[in-house]
Amino acid sequence: MNQQYYIQLEEEFGAHNYKPLDVVLARGERLWVWDVEGNKYMDCLSAYSAVNQGHCHPKIMQTMIEQAQKLTLTSRAFRNDQLGLFYKELCELTRSHKVLPMNSGAEAVETVIKAVRKWGYKVKGVPHDKAEIIVCENNFHGRTIAIIGFSTENQYRNGFGPFPPGFKIVPFGDATAIEQAITPHTVGVLLEPIQGEAGVIIPPSGYLKDVKAVCEKHDIVLILDEIQTGLGRTGKLLAEEHEDIEADVTVIGKALSGGFYPISAVLSNKEVLGVFMPGDHGSTFGGNPLACAVARTALKVLVEENMIDNSREMGEYFLSQLKTIQSPFIKEIRGKGLLIGVELLPEAGGARRFCEDLKTKGLLCKETHENVIRFAPPLVITKEEIDWAMDRIRPVLTQIPNKEFI
Ligand SMILES: *Cc1c(COP(=O)(O)O)cnc(C)c1O
Repeated sequence: MNQQYYIQLEEEFGAHNYKPLDVVLARGERLWVWDVEGNKYMDCLSAYSAVNQGHCHPKIMQTMIEQAQKLTLTSRAFRNDQLGLFYKELCELTRSHKVLPMNSGAEAVETVIKAVRKWGYKVKGVPHDKAEIIVCENNFHGRTIAIIGFSTENQYRNGFGPFPPGFKIVPFGDATAIEQAITPHTVGVLLEPIQGEAGVIIPPSGYLKDVKAVCEKHDIVLILDEIQTGLGRTGKLLAEEHEDIEADVTVIGKALSGGFYPISAVLSNKEVLGVFMPGDHGSTFGGNPLACAVARTALKVLVEENMIDNSREMGEYFLSQLKTIQSPFIKEIRGKGLLIGVELLPEAGGARRFCEDLKTKGLLCKETHENVIRFAPPLVITKEEIDWAMDRIRPVLTQIPNKEFI
């Protein structure tokens, strides 16, 4: 079957809430994927950093198959033999005290909002239903009602209200703005260490440290959404390590399963998660043995196969290579580890056409917002593979693209 057949099925029967590149993928291995017609591409998106370990990692696959043959779901009405081990290994790796497993990233963020609000009432003594959480402009934390309610992106919000109150929005990268927004009702600050969806926005150095100090001073919970920046993406296990801090609460997801299964987790260093009592919160699939087994192996290969160091080293190399491109279209190139954004000038006519052009040359990546191309390949990428990518990226970014995309 050719790709057009599958595209037409999606268009006819699916809701049109995405605008994908028209490439119909059928197989993947490491950072390579193949479409239904057998064409091969380098994946430079990694499913928004959910496939950090590379597509169909053989060890994760083996665990998935073995666990699927034993036990997949018990619900939390009963215990299972994977959950406790998953907790222990994840806590040891991230130096956390407690874990609460969920499925999607957005669900984990919702879980944090509940936990931190309850912590505010029970521990900090904030009056009932008055808790405030400070968030940042251009945030991305998922697509549920509460979360989009504090988005500053029109398209994420328009037509979906009303939204729950209790959030204050401040500029990203400015710790003083956070301090000024604090009231006696403030319970938490929620932010991304690097704003991925906003276009790989890296805050000034020292920002996280300053925010942490502000939070400590005012007895406020610092929550870092590391769903995209965590698990090796920026060259450290967690991006907070770049500034030598520890968030009170960390949210991870995406690469926690290496792309095999939806699993997310809330990690807490203070006793924030301790406020939950039986019946306060739950999820049918959260913490199921299949997810836990897969996540245990996904974490193991990330560490054992040196993917975090590779992300740092290859990220530096990729960034330095990109910075050698002389192009009239480029405004700025920035990145940390293998989370890299190439921001184009408005005159370039949008990032989308460059992504379309790269696709025809065998490299898949996606625009974020109008003008940024994000390069975030699986963390297994080699120097030779970066050179291969550069041989495609360089001409596309320096030549006037195909007319049909303009
Ligand atoms: C992807 C992402 C989410 C949402 O995760 P889902 O699994 O899509 O719900 C939240 N925060 C950040 C920073 C993300 O990148």
